[in-house]
Amino acid sequence: MTFDALIIGAGISGLVAARLLSREGLRVALLEQHQALGGYLQRFSIRATPFDAGVHYVGALGEGQILHRYLRHLGVTLRARPMRPDGFEALYLPSGRLDLPWGHQAYARAWIARFPHEAEGLRRYVEAIEAEVARFPMYSLEGSLSERGQPSTTRTLASVLDGLISDPALKEALAYPALLYFVHPRQAPFTLHAFVLDSYLRGAYTLDGGGVTLVEALAGQIRAAGGRVEVGAEVVSLEVDTARRVEGLRLADGRRLRAPLIIAALDPKRVVRMLPPGAARPAYTRRVLGLTEGLSALSGYLRVEADLGDALGRNHHVLPRGWLDALFGGGWLDDPRATFPVTALLPGYAEGLIQPVHLFTGISAAPFAAFEGTRTGRRGEGYRRLKHKLLQRQLDAARAAGLPVDPLRSSHGATPLTYRDYSGNSGGAVYGLRHGVDQIGGRGASARTPVGGLRLTGHSTLFPGLLGAIISAYYTCAEVLGLERLYGELRRA
Ligand SMILES: Cc1cc2nc3c(=O)[nH]c(=O)nc-3n(C[C@H](O)[C@H](O)[C@H](O)COP(=O)(O)OP(=O)(O)OC[C@H]3O[C@@H](n4cnc5c(N)ncnc54)[C@H](O)[C@@H]3O)c2cc1C
Repeated sequence: MTFDALIIGAGISGLVAARLLSREGLRVALLEQHQALGGYLQRFSIRATPFDAGVHYVGALGEGQILHRYLRHLGVTLRARPMRPDGFEALYLPSGRLDLPWGHQAYARAWIARFPHEAEGLRRYVEAIEAEVARFPMYSLEGSLSERGQPSTTRTLASVLDGLISDPALKEALAYPALLYFVHPRQAPFTLHAFVLDSYLRGAYTLDGGGVTLVEALAGQIRAAGGRVEVGAEVVSLEVDTARRVEGLRLADGRRLRAPLIIAALDPKRVVRMLPPGAARPAYTRRVLGLTEGLSALSGYLRVEADLGDALGRNHHVLPRGWLDALFGGGWLDDPRATFPVTALLPGYAEGLIQPVHLFTGISAAPFAAFEGTRTGRRGEGYRRLKHKLLQRQLDAARAAGLPVDPLRSSHGATPLTYRDYSGNSGGAVYGLRHGVDQIGGRGASARTPVGGLRLTGHSTLFPGLLGAIISAYYTCAEVLGLERLYGELRRA
């Protein structure tokens, strides 16, 4: 069968790409390996209690704000619930709990109240965040595309903090948004940090019904525009002609689909492995396969029978002294006394007495390497013991910090292998390839590939998170639809 464009992977980036192209009258097919659409936007239930696999909260969704305008341009209206404006993030620091509010000025004031000796540096830090995002027009949606300076791809978060702040405890605490992109401040591009943090400072929201409502809306629109949306459609190889242009792909069930444009909205390493030998320059293949994955995660899904009251509508981040090195060094795995960061996500969307509490800790796939060849439900006793041990430590750490995890009615868990099998991301990376300064822009996996007609999109190609993945799809489709045109439409949306 022949199409104008084939899109592989129905996470948010693939859905947005399919929506943008089908609206233009292109005959598109969106192909998803699993039976459910959405990738990390899926929602699942444990004994009728709903849990979101990936996206828990989003920023800048207020009327006229950036995410709102992207959704309006896509023709989607979502019902959202604001998290607590006076403290949507609760940090449990060695110096005690610190609640962080929306609003750049209020945010600066909250930090200054705890660290008054760093008032000037903190004010300048928040100004630096605002100045940095203003250089990224597809985010700020202000000014003309050509007028803006480029965001720096070499300046790190650590270098910015070192220039403004002296207190090491404050530097470590200010880095907490690293939990939303998993890069150490010494490696994290300041532009990435600013992008992630700024959107939440404009307002933090949870989506009523979860990210799956966005998935359903987009899939409905693609179908209404004549596009095809297929689940259970795993792509196993790409077909390339002698001029090194894609001409089609092959599915696991043996079918061949043809198109002159293929947008791969999945792990770039997997895409490169789908190419026939010689289709891409060896240097490109080597570079992409040599890129490092970001961290995966250990997730505990708790059903808690309690009125969580004031704890709801906030994320609770437990950040003991040294948490950054523990997170990125992984040393806590071998040291039973070590503490490590735990985030409890308490958006507060469940009706009824049982509340879902999602405990979340970054972890590499390395401890689970011995079980890599196994499949869900058949990973064996050794895996079960390791998983149980780590989840218990996570739960103990949450209890020790006083997070509301009791009375606990049931607990389940996910490991890097769960995330790997769920998303197809190498190493079960929750935010895709590691977004360090050594792997950003041309040094990473950008939308363009050396194979004609083959484009990449998704969180590995730009920035992680719902908004990052959406913007990545706009950049990728801009090659067909024109960046100036899309930018103009977004500014008017
Ligand atoms: C635990 C967790 C918490 C998070 N919390 C937040 C949050 O609160 N806010 C936020 O904004 N972001 C959050 N994120 C990040 C966010 O969910 C992701 O960055 C974003 O959803 C990625 O979208 P994507 O389209 O790039 O990729 P994915 O969602 O990974 O989609 C890729 C899709 O491709 C499919 N696929 C792969 N290989 C093939 C193949 N060969 N054939 C066909 N299909 C294939 C996969 O099945 C999948 O559906 C979180 C992520 C996780 C895991």
